Amino acid sequence: MKSHAQVVVIGGGVVGASVLYHLTKAGWKDVLLVERAELTSGSTWHAAGGMHTVNGDPNVAKLQQYTINLYQEIERISGQSCGVHITGGIMLAGTRERLDWLKMAKARGRYLKMDLEIISVEEAAKLFPLLDQRHFAGALYDPIEGHVDPYGVTHAYAKSAQIGGAEIVRQTRVVDLKQRADGSWDVITENGNVHAEHVVNAGGLWAREVGRMVGIELPILAMEHQYLITGDMPELAGKPEQLHAIDFEGEIYLRQERGGMLMGTYERAGVPWSPDTTPWDFGQDLLANDLDRIAPSLAVGFEHFPALEAAGIRKVVNGPFTFAPDGNPLVGPVRGLRNFWVACGVMAGFSQGGGVGLALSHWMVDGDPGADVWGMDVARYGDWTTLAYTNAKVRENYSRRFRIRFPNEELHAARPLRTTPIYERLQAEHAVFGDYCALEHALWFAPSAAEAHDEVSFRRSNSHPHVARECLAVRDNIGLLEISNYGKFDVQGPGAAEWLSHTMANRVPSVGRIALTPMLNDRGKLIGDFTVCRAAQDRFLLIGTYAAETYYMRWFERHLPPNGVSVRPCAMEYTGLAIAGPSARALLQGLVRDDLSSAAFPFMSFRRMEIGMVPGYVGRVSFTGEQGFEIWVSSDYQRALYDVLSGAGRDHGLTLYGGRALNSMRIEKSFGSWAREYRPIYGPFEAGLGRFVDLKKDRFIGRAAALEERDGGGALRLLAFKVQATDADAIGDEPIWHDGRPVGWVTSGAYGHRVGASLALGYVPASLAGADAGFEIEIIGERCAAARLSEPAYDPTGAKMRV
Ligand SMILES: Cc1cc2nc3c(=O)[nH]c(=O)nc-3n(C[C@H](O)[C@H](O)[C@H](O)COP(=O)(O)OP(=O)(O)OC[C@H]3O[C@@H](n4cnc5c(N)ncnc54)[C@H](O)[C@@H]3O)c2cc1C
Repeated sequence: MKSHAQVVVIGGGVVGASVLYHLTKAGWKDVLLVERAELTSGSTWHAAGGMHTVNGDPNVAKLQQYTINLYQEIERISGQSCGVHITGGIMLAGTRERLDWLKMAKARGRYLKMDLEIISVEEAAKLFPLLDQRHFAGALYDPIEGHVDPYGVTHAYAKSAQIGGAEIVRQTRVVDLKQRADGSWDVITENGNVHAEHVVNAGGLWAREVGRMVGIELPILAMEHQYLITGDMPELAGKPEQLHAIDFEGEIYLRQERGGMLMGTYERAGVPWSPDTTPWDFGQDLLANDLDRIAPSLAVGFEHFPALEAAGIRKVVNGPFTFAPDGNPLVGPVRGLRNFWVACGVMAGFSQGGGVGLALSHWMVDGDPGADVWGMDVARYGDWTTLAYTNAKVRENYSRRFRIRFPNEELHAARPLRTTPIYERLQAEHAVFGDYCALEHALWFAPSAAEAHDEVSFRRSNSHPHVARECLAVRDNIGLLEISNYGKFDVQGPGAAEWLSHTMANRVPSVGRIALTPMLNDRGKLIGDFTVCRAAQDRFLLIGTYAAETYYMRWFERHLPPNGVSVRPCAMEYTGLAIAGPSARALLQGLVRDDLSSAAFPFMSFRRMEIGMVPGYVGRVSFTGEQGFEIWVSSDYQRALYDVLSGAGRDHGLTLYGGRALNSMRIEKSFGSWAREYRPIYGPFEAGLGRFVDLKKDRFIGRAAALEERDGGGALRLLAFKVQATDADAIGDEPIWHDGRPVGWVTSGAYGHRVGASLALGYVPASLAGADAGFEIEIIGERCAAARLSEPAYDPTGAKMRV
């Protein structure tokens, strides 16, 4: 084994092998993979090898497409067969809701150029004769599905990497990792040490243990997973290979395995494997079968596919593999650890392994993943992902693998975990809560405890009239919203203003003022949007998206000078309440000594004030489009602030409103939001944020690319639409059609109660930015006429929030 390498990849499963190959492909040749046993010795060797392109996140779906197309390439380079069987696949729906869900998946596939088709039960039965038609309502057909040989794929990656210059060492366990002062790593193995510039944790079943070597607790957990293989079936003899099938109601998947069928299930009573520590002596072992646990799924399977029962069970496989709380991979650089990368928690290695390797190799070599990988970025989690939290969420995710997640459906595991001081007060007002970063926040308020729940649906739901009431109260009078679930950062020091000017695209506000600003990466793409509040000459409060706190901190720390500036996340030190509506000033003025008139405290002002007895920061900003104030106080004061505002609010007819009303109102104002309208695939001019990019500044990250985008116009444009929808509104990811062709995608949608119309925001090619007619938005399989709005649907001049 060599004693020095540019990169050491720990783990020779399908993911580590893919990372190794992609690093060589990106030009890094001095790369070494260290494997504890033989290649595939973790979860890879006993995988069923199934692969498919459909994924709830379109960006992950793109990486799945890439993975499947890659197999030809690595077969050609390595001469090693991947055992690819492209059989095509059907996803079977047993209910109307599931068929709606499949229609939405098909629609999403349109702009990903996927060739998906909704078919009738009769057509499904022709393609997959084993099914009993009585149990199904329709299906989605995908021609690009199939399975591969896990051993062949891993070895094809590995050989291709070796041909590209990589070295692979087997039977060598990494036992510890020590970082040197220069950020490089001593990789300590059973067979000697390697000094490496970068380390990649692709430890699969042991990724958690490898993380612990560097003091981090990765939110992953292995679950036991069982599939069985039937005896040979006369129904299959002499026929072409059967398609892949997913039966959502049965929660099972099927494919042909030689003369029989392979049937696997994500059972509801799933069991974690090695919840605390994965034993190092676990090798190419299988776990004891537990057919009782999967008996309910098997019974449904035998009912829906009767020939299976008669075929008998030839073999049962029970093996563990890892999941993150949301089921998506954990990829990227780890905040606070230089040159330490992860590629783990990959639960669908044969659909996603290639895409994970591609993104990570670009990230390491070019400093940027080259694609929108927010959905699988390791930085999407924060310190709430304790071992027990991860355990509860992974079990929930596993048990729901084939269940529908409705757009208004909140999941219940690991809740309530984090609450703010006013949680019980809001509960008493019949709040229906959602969880965001494990923090409870009010979505809407019901008139009674009995009505305080969501009836899940793809269409307008039971919350619709109540959200309407909240929005109209904000428009006509005044509303109160808790805003604690925003990310906040304390930026201080003599170099703070200069650093912010370099890191953010907009100008730095003067003391007592607020500026909105995009944050760009070197390629001029949006990696954040912030409200910058200047409390003093050298002190700022930055407000942004809470879910991206670790993502932002990783970026900030990478760009901090050695001294002169400190940045500290402080979300929970500033719990907040916002008031909005034409009576907002009158309410607050009665509680503070400061003059809140527009002359003394104009729009976008920020100041320390005392609200009754409560000290806090008050910002005059508005995400609703109404006259509004955001008040930030440390959490020990939040209850008192709530009481003083709601007490005084009684005279002003104050109404509580929640996150759903806020979403509807910000869409009426065409205000974008992170991870929806603002993502690293869009530039600021494409996203309509050009006015917040101060090109008069000589230097800031992304300036050159932003200038180029402004001059060239960018490829895309974010537009607002009024949609002729009937009982369902767009929610995001629906295709936008123009003149009969899918041309773009929706990023957000909601019913705009203040304007009485269904609304959507979404991207189309810039060439269509001025098109006046011909748009349609496909909502649950129905193309609804959509009118492009040339200005925000509500209060287009912004007069109301400035008054
Ligand atoms: C029963 C079953 C069925 C499945 N079916 C499918 C399917 O149909 N389709 C699909 O896409 N996926 C399927 N999977 C999931 C798939 O197996 C995983 O997504 C994939 O194997 C993950 O690969 P990995 O490389 O991340 O991890 P692993 O395969 O666990 O590889 C990690 C490797 O790292 C090595 N390692 C760990 N720590 C160290 C160390 N300290 N030093 C040196 N080496 C180390 C291990 O020995 C191991 O070889 C299935 C899994 C199971 C269990």
